[in-house]
Amino acid sequence: MTDSVSMEKKNAVERAREIISDYHGPKLRIMEVCGTHTHEIFRQGIRSLLSEDITLISGPGCPVCVTPVSYIDEAVMLALEKGCTILTFGDLVRVPGSEKSLQTARGEGASVKVVYSPQDAEDYARTHPEEETVFLSVGFETTTPSSCIALKQAISDGISNFSLLCANKTMPAAYRAMMAATDAYLYPGHVCAITGLSDCRQMLELGMSGVVAGFTAPELLTALAVIVQKSKEGKPFLVNCYPRVVTEEGSPQARALVAEYMEPCDSMWRGIGLMADSGMDLKEAYAAYDARKKYALPRIEGREAKGCRCGEVLQGACIPQECPLFGKRCTPEHPVGACMVSSEGACSAFYLYQRRD
Ligand code: SF4
Repeated sequence: MTDSVSMEKKNAVERAREIISDYHGPKLRIMEVCGTHTHEIFRQGIRSLLSEDITLISGPGCPVCVTPVSYIDEAVMLALEKGCTILTFGDLVRVPGSEKSLQTARGEGASVKVVYSPQDAEDYARTHPEEETVFLSVGFETTTPSSCIALKQAISDGISNFSLLCANKTMPAAYRAMMAATDAYLYPGHVCAITGLSDCRQMLELGMSGVVAGFTAPELLTALAVIVQKSKEGKPFLVNCYPRVVTEEGSPQARALVAEYMEPCDSMWRGIGLMADSGMDLKEAYAAYDARKKYALPRIEGREAKGCRCGEVLQGACIPQECPLFGKRCTPEHPVGACMVSSEGACSAFYLYQRRD
């Protein structure tokens, strides 16, 4: 990078910082939909730069947080009653179920293994043919293609001891559900890298403003500054501030892969409830790899922990400190709700960074 380009970028970032700090005007509510944005904004100290007329609201973009209690109950049942080996990302292990977490189940003899990708899970299943394995497939448009790649590999390898417990979600229904709580969205860059801009354009047609944002400090500052500047014009807007990764069409290949194995379904979101066409589930043709069907799981009604306000936190209806359990009975070491467990959860972000502020 030449000195002049570097200086230009430095000036642009400084200008963005001034814009978000010096703003005075109508109260501006910006929802960072994505849990990674929530944590990065805290971690980079950006919250403390904001004018008091700007409010950041944490939204329902943490995959572990929006996964309902009943899903954890299903996983515990598979582990303890059906004798399956559960393969999962680490955060889900500590999320409380109605009665117990997977961690507690493990203490009772269940086989619960942490993997770092769905491909690792398929690899484990292939090399442990004596075990019935279930991968906990959660996440948004960004991670669902990886689950499909693992399934494709399992079919290609001819293994029958591998299945998915799906709670995959898609963002558009959540964007629509959260409209009343915010003036503009900070759209998740990694989701838009897959979907392209069509979902954001549909929101624009509904009158909802937003900016697609990356994850570095300069990218986040720029995105917030663009929201502040465009809001002054008084009409809905959509700006892609992450063009190095997000294109208009996104990734048709990733979407085609998902469409081969999965189809839209109604899905239960913690705090929001059942939303039509807000999830992805395996097609009937792949029922043999669907853990719910393979092990004939009954329908389970989960029970939230008493006093936990995760549902309201996820809808931007309260901030974590307004939960009476925050920092007292509920901490990252002893989480009561999913939003304190997850590395992308709003409660864990407020606990880790706000207290430090
Ligand atoms: S602080 Fe804990 S109990 Fe309260 S809403 Fe957050 S996760 Fe739930």
